[in-house]
Amino acid sequence: MVKNILKILGILILVFIIILVVKAMVISSKQVDVKEAIPYKIDSMTAAAHLSEAIQIQTVSNQEQSKTDVKQFEQFHKFLANTYPSVHKKLKKEVVAGYALLYTWKGSDPSLKPMLLMAHQDVVPVEELTKDQWKYPGFSGTIADGHVWGRGALDIKNQLIAIMEAVEFLVNRGFVPRRTIYLAFGHDEEVGGQGAQAIAKLLKDRNVSLEYVLDEGGAIMEGMLPGVESPIALVGIAEKGYLTIKLTVKGEGGHSSMPPHHTALGVLAKALVSVEENPFPKNFDSPARQMFEYVAPHMKFPLRILFANMWCFKPLLKWQFEKSESTNAMIRTTAAVTMAGASEKENILPTQAWAMINCRILPGETMDTTIAYLKKVIGNDAVAIEATPWSNDPSPVSDISQGSFTAIATIARQINPDVIVAPYLVLGATDSRHYNALTNQIYRFCPVKLKSEDLKTMHGINERISISDLGKSVKFFIALIEKTHM
Ligand SMILES: [Zn+2]
Repeated sequence: MVKNILKILGILILVFIIILVVKAMVISSKQVDVKEAIPYKIDSMTAAAHLSEAIQIQTVSNQEQSKTDVKQFEQFHKFLANTYPSVHKKLKKEVVAGYALLYTWKGSDPSLKPMLLMAHQDVVPVEELTKDQWKYPGFSGTIADGHVWGRGALDIKNQLIAIMEAVEFLVNRGFVPRRTIYLAFGHDEEVGGQGAQAIAKLLKDRNVSLEYVLDEGGAIMEGMLPGVESPIALVGIAEKGYLTIKLTVKGEGGHSSMPPHHTALGVLAKALVSVEENPFPKNFDSPARQMFEYVAPHMKFPLRILFANMWCFKPLLKWQFEKSESTNAMIRTTAAVTMAGASEKENILPTQAWAMINCRILPGETMDTTIAYLKKVIGNDAVAIEATPWSNDPSPVSDISQGSFTAIATIARQINPDVIVAPYLVLGATDSRHYNALTNQIYRFCPVKLKSEDLKTMHGINERISISDLGKSVKFFIALIEKTHM
């Protein structure tokens, strides 16, 4: 009897394993089949020389607007006009909110909705402390070792130059887009994006509705996921929301020689511990799930069995994702305690203690649900909770069944046939969030191959782009403009 039960159990387990393995074997690729390459020959060295010049103009944005060296932006505009004469002859140029640029390339078919290509002109500073650690000075725009070096080479003058090179190339060939194309280059993305906001408002006031927007945010990542050999072209289809919460606790004050059982700071500390110990709930559904649906068919065994059978292994995957900071951030709203303060002297009881918690909100949740969750886990009315300005809800999730996603995915593989494309959740914030009211299709992608150590060069030391990637980026935008006019 027992023997028979064991036998049946054994057979069931075997059948179950076979189902898992078969599912992993038959899971079909979602990649677009790409046959032909992009036909044009691009002069990458000229594009590199132009990027080098762009880097040398120090368009550094400053949190205090009045401290921004506006002459650099004026010079940058002059550089663009001189370098891309055909663009400036054919397209309408408008300067918005001081230094943001909006170019309009009128399409021949007014029934088609326009598309909008984005980048930003500004860069973060080269930190004085790390200045000497650069292989080539941060604003030199040195061309060496197959790369263009300097601040903005990856974030994101590369994209701005690639777009301009592509448009100049197509205008010179007499190309006329059927769809109107906007080029929108903000001047202060690194400090809030007033420029992009003003452009979006201007277009909204003109009743413009966009087919889609393409901004920075994702890239082609090498060695990002275990079990995947191909580089992954991560096309951002959503970005997390941004919310900084201020916690305040009031106290009696007085001399620290006769303290109460808990000071204001003690109460606050307890609240902060509660927040850290009760992370937001995990949510493995889109866009993280969508990413793995695209990647799973290209994973090696045995990992592929896990990802091809998410219906069964979801709890295990969630647990695995939680272990690393970068994957954890993909599946939940995060809360980072970043600043705090209390009494001004060690022997005075604080009359007030405060702390800041920076939250990044997962699509599907909102600023309100985030605040409600924090209130619940803190569970103490003595702790006042308020949102600070500069907060925003997560973006909507773009619909990848649309033609624009397919166009981006196809061209990404045309310029790099070895990559697989996957939708992706952008963890930081981009200027594209200001365009949410103009379209429900916002993509965030830069066709550049990066390793994880390259990510640190953005806003860090030795920022650089390979000349080959820059040339491919130009091709990418040529093909994108050609394709989406259809
Ligand atoms: Zn950027």
